[in-house]
Amino acid sequence: MAEKLKDLVILGGGTAGWLCAAILSKRLAGHSIQVSLVESEEIGLIGVGEATIPPIRAALSFLGIDEIEFVKATQGSFKLGIEFVDWLRLDHAYLHPFGAFGADWDGVPFHQHFLRYRALGGGIGYQDFSLTALAAKAGKFCSALDTTAFHRNWNYAFHFDSALAAPFFRNYAQAHGVRRIEGVVEDATQDGDGYITALALQDGTAVNGDFFIDCSGFRSKLLGDTLDTPFEDWSDVLFCDTAVAAPSKREEAARPYTRAVARDAGWQWEIPLAHRNGNGYVFSSRYTDVETAKNTLIASLGDRIAADPRVIRFKPGRRSSFWVKNCVAIGLAAGFLEPLESTAIHLSQLGVFWLLPFIPNYRPCPEEIALYNHQMAAAYEQAKNFILLHYLTSQRSDTDFWRDCARVTPPDALACRIRAFTETGRCFIPEGELFSQGSWLAVMMGQGIDPESYPFYADAGEDRAASLRLENLHSAFVEQVKRVPRHEAAIA
Ligand SMILES: Cc1cc2nc3c(=O)[nH]c(=O)nc-3n(C[C@H](O)[C@H](O)[C@H](O)COP(=O)(O)OP(=O)(O)OC[C@H]3O[C@@H](n4cnc5c(N)ncnc54)[C@H](O)[C@@H]3O)c2cc1C
Repeated sequence: MAEKLKDLVILGGGTAGWLCAAILSKRLAGHSIQVSLVESEEIGLIGVGEATIPPIRAALSFLGIDEIEFVKATQGSFKLGIEFVDWLRLDHAYLHPFGAFGADWDGVPFHQHFLRYRALGGGIGYQDFSLTALAAKAGKFCSALDTTAFHRNWNYAFHFDSALAAPFFRNYAQAHGVRRIEGVVEDATQDGDGYITALALQDGTAVNGDFFIDCSGFRSKLLGDTLDTPFEDWSDVLFCDTAVAAPSKREEAARPYTRAVARDAGWQWEIPLAHRNGNGYVFSSRYTDVETAKNTLIASLGDRIAADPRVIRFKPGRRSSFWVKNCVAIGLAAGFLEPLESTAIHLSQLGVFWLLPFIPNYRPCPEEIALYNHQMAAAYEQAKNFILLHYLTSQRSDTDFWRDCARVTPPDALACRIRAFTETGRCFIPEGELFSQGSWLAVMMGQGIDPESYPFYADAGEDRAASLRLENLHSAFVEQVKRVPRHEAAIA
């Protein structure tokens, strides 16, 4: 009979730790495996991380959690995309909306029909063929449309209060048998092969385990400290390394989207929650200092600011391996990329879902460890390239920060993707990549990448009929948005 895993221990009770515990408690139910989570109130949580991307809905669905219940409990709101203000150039804005743009037909992707339409003199912009972009700008939201016709065009995520998300998942996990242990982990003991056997708490308690998940945040207490896994520093391409964050009161209605406003040495987020806005200026300490950044944030919020700005420092990059021996790191303990496209919580979710099929009976299999590490590394790389796309294609040259961002040499995969789209109007995204073709196109076009041509096969059929088809689709989207309620109604 196979040896059996008995004790699985998670270190860290932030959003990553408790989300992980909730998912494991559901997946391991009925297998007599005790899941324990050690966390320390004294150390606390990072306290930021309030915007998500649509796959979070799959995690809630897996857990059997009602979305409305989740939004209520976390003072949340709904997110149809991200608006990028002043990224391409000053006084310019575009949305990266969720959900597909337009509709494909005759085997031709929508954006190529659009390129033909535009070449024929069509005046409706690409963004206006996104149902969610139109709804976002109109301040509208609903969780399900009154038609199935635009099913592919509608998708959303959530904003939530970072202080309420971890407790929400904690309640779920504890109700499903996860044991919570309060205490500060000082050290970890290892066997002769280097496998972790127990966590040593400050009060002398030992928490024994067969398998460990490190969700200890930037400390990376187990993967980084105990197992000495090197950190790959990406600050040569991603310059931002500090954030100043503060909540604010809101006078206007909550927008159903996140805003990312480019600033002199980085960018500022605005995340609308039910009871307040979350704000933060993410910047590079090589180009400005904390005081200037705080003043920029304070000036932008005026008397709506609701607390003194908090400073959070980070290093962009990831651990060279995510899984070493009997320890997997998930969340900030594994790595972090600046929050421009809200990828961090999603990468935690991937980290745990991709682990589920590989949870070992006892000793992990090296080939499976390698496979997991390969998959996770690819996901981080894809997130990095997508974030870099925004910086490398900016036409801003008004500050040293933006001038230097434009000088960064793109990784080959990113350079190829931009070049192929520019030259051919094609955008091929392999199955399973972190961001879809729709997301890449929204940002490439939003950032002013203009294809020089489009594939000949998009020229099928009569010109006027093709243009009319696009115009009718746009009109149908506009009519549909009229029937969607206001976002405030949804969050009320
Ligand atoms: C400026 C900024 C903005 C962000 N915005 C977003 C966003 O909009 N969207 C998004 O998806 N992500 C965002 N993130 C990332 C997001 O904050 C994290 O992914 C998320 O909060 C999960 O963090 P965590 O659980 O890994 O770490 P933490 O919240 O830091 O939790 C670590 C846990 O480990 C415990 N711990 C640590 N050491 C010990 C020890 N020795 N003993 C006992 N317990 C210990 C702590 O007490 C805590 O419980 C942002 C991050 C930053 C820095």
